[in-house]
Amino acid sequence: MRLRNIKGADERILADPYTIQTDGTDGADFKGRWNREYFHNDHPIHIEIGMGKGQFITTLAQQNPNINYIGIEKYSSVLIRAIDKREELALDNLLFMRMDAEEITDYFEPGEVGRIYLNFSDPWPKDRHAKRRLTSTTFLSRYDQILQRDGVVEFKTDNRPLFDFSLEQLQEVGWHADYVSYHLHENGPAADNIMTEYEQKFYALGNPICKFRAHR
Ligand code: SAM
Repeated sequence: MRLRNIKGADERILADPYTIQTDGTDGADFKGRWNREYFHNDHPIHIEIGMGKGQFITTLAQQNPNINYIGIEKYSSVLIRAIDKREELALDNLLFMRMDAEEITDYFEPGEVGRIYLNFSDPWPKDRHAKRRLTSTTFLSRYDQILQRDGVVEFKTDNRPLFDFSLEQLQEVGWHADYVSYHLHENGPAADNIMTEYEQKFYALGNPICKFRAHR
C-alpha cells in the first residue's frame, strides 16, 4: 500500500493539527490523557491500526460522534490520503497518528483503549516475519496492555492463511472469538459493515472476506 514520492507529504503531515507525530516530540505527552488533553470528553477511545487511506475510520467517526477515534498509520505516503479526506469534514472525534504499531504501548495507558480495528493487515507471508503480523501473539500481548477489561479486537482480511494463523494466535494467548465469519459478504454487502479501500477492491474481485471479533 506504500505510495512513493508524494511531494510535500511530510511537511503537510507535520503541519496538520489533527495528526500526532511519534518522533518523541508529541504523542507520548498524551499517554493516559488523550481524552482529557485532546478530545476534552470521557468518550470511549477506539483505534484502527494500519488505517491506510482512512476510509473506514473516517466513516466510523462520522457515524459515531460519541466515540473518539484514533487512526494509526506507519507511512506518510498513505496517511496523507487520510488527511485529505479528513480536511473535507469537520470532525472533533478523529485524530491520526503517524506511528509504527510496535510502539503502541508507549502511547496508550493500560485500559485506555476500548476497541482495536485491524483491517486487511499486511500478511508478512514468510515464517521468519510472523511476529510482524499485527495479529501475532507479539502484537496481541501489546493490545492486552492497552485494552480495557472488556475491550475487543476486530479483524478483517481476504487472506485465508493469515486469518487461520490469527485465530490460532488468539487461542495461544487464551483470547476468545465471539464472532467468526469466513464469508462476510456471502449474501451481498453485510449490513452494519463499513468497507475499507482494500475490502472494496477484494469484494469486487469476488474474494471471500473473513472477519472475527475477539476479546480476552
Ligand atoms: N486498512 C486499510 C484497508 O483495509 O484498506 C489498509 C490496508 S494495507 C494492506 C495495510 C496498511 O497497514 C498499510 O497502509 C501499512 O502501511 C499499514 N501498516 C502495516 N504495518 C503497520 C504497523 N506496524 N504500524 C502502523 N501501520 C502499519
